[in-house]
Amino acid sequence: MKLLNSPIDSFNYLERQIYVKRDDLLHPEFSGNKARKLAYFLEHDFPEIDTLISYGGIQSNLMYSLSALAKLKKWNFIYYCCKPSEIALLQKKGNLAGALANGMQIITVYSKLDDYVKNLNIHNNQLLIMQGGAQPEAMYGIKQLAEEIITWSAKESISSLSIFLPSGTGVSALYLQKYLPKFKVYTTNCVGSKEYLIQQWRDLELDGNLPIILPNHKYRFATPYTELLEIHQSIYKLSQIEFDLIYDPVGWKILADNLHQINSPILYIHCGGVIGNSTMRNRYDYSMA
Ligand SMILES: *Cc1c(COP(=O)(O)O)cnc(C)c1O
Repeated sequence: MKLLNSPIDSFNYLERQIYVKRDDLLHPEFSGNKARKLAYFLEHDFPEIDTLISYGGIQSNLMYSLSALAKLKKWNFIYYCCKPSEIALLQKKGNLAGALANGMQIITVYSKLDDYVKNLNIHNNQLLIMQGGAQPEAMYGIKQLAEEIITWSAKESISSLSIFLPSGTGVSALYLQKYLPKFKVYTTNCVGSKEYLIQQWRDLELDGNLPIILPNHKYRFATPYTELLEIHQSIYKLSQIEFDLIYDPVGWKILADNLHQINSPILYIHCGGVIGNSTMRNRYDYSMA
């Protein structure tokens, strides 16, 4: 299965024309940068594998895409995570509900997840995909994304372009910059600190060109903030595009605050994740009630 060539839309925001790479439209089950990060696994055969193993957050966008990958490949899918709450397990929509419906098996871990997984004995029939898909195979699909951007910019005669996407692990931003050496990739840290993001990059690639971080000092990951909900809604009004509620509101806020420093045309990468919006919307409803 090949997922390629998402369209590019544009809209006006703060008197700027912003282009949006619609990777959210790639495929209903493999959307956004998760589709790009998993392209290598989607497009190759793994005859010796019958079980996919991964770990991470219980509402993770990657977890859902992995469950779709496993279903497509007819693999078992084992996911290590912290104990999900009763409420989370009862939800009918969202990443967890979708992944369970796709056959994901959960194994609850009570100690530190990273250490636990490091000590797992992975057999020849098992494929381990790291949290957030932070591994070199992600280069394959991100390179395809970069090539689509190069083709588009040449066709539009855009010689200087700035690309923006919010970061979790930072893998997507890192590899995009790697394959777009003529363009500047900007990002912001949504999960940890700016230093965490740089460390992630150093762990994957010792040298090379790094994206530019527009630092987020304020917003904690997956936490409701009134101003973030407001920016999410105003972007929707202007663009008629639904963005994800976890990464993108931080992305748009930080981009808006720093827009004056970016002179060239801006291409915002829609990284998908909209399937998780129902559970994040519940969190907003709860925090504002
Ligand atoms: C996973 C995700 C990101 C972050 O991607 P990384 O490669 O981990 O930095 C950003 N936006 C959305 C919607 C995502 O699902």
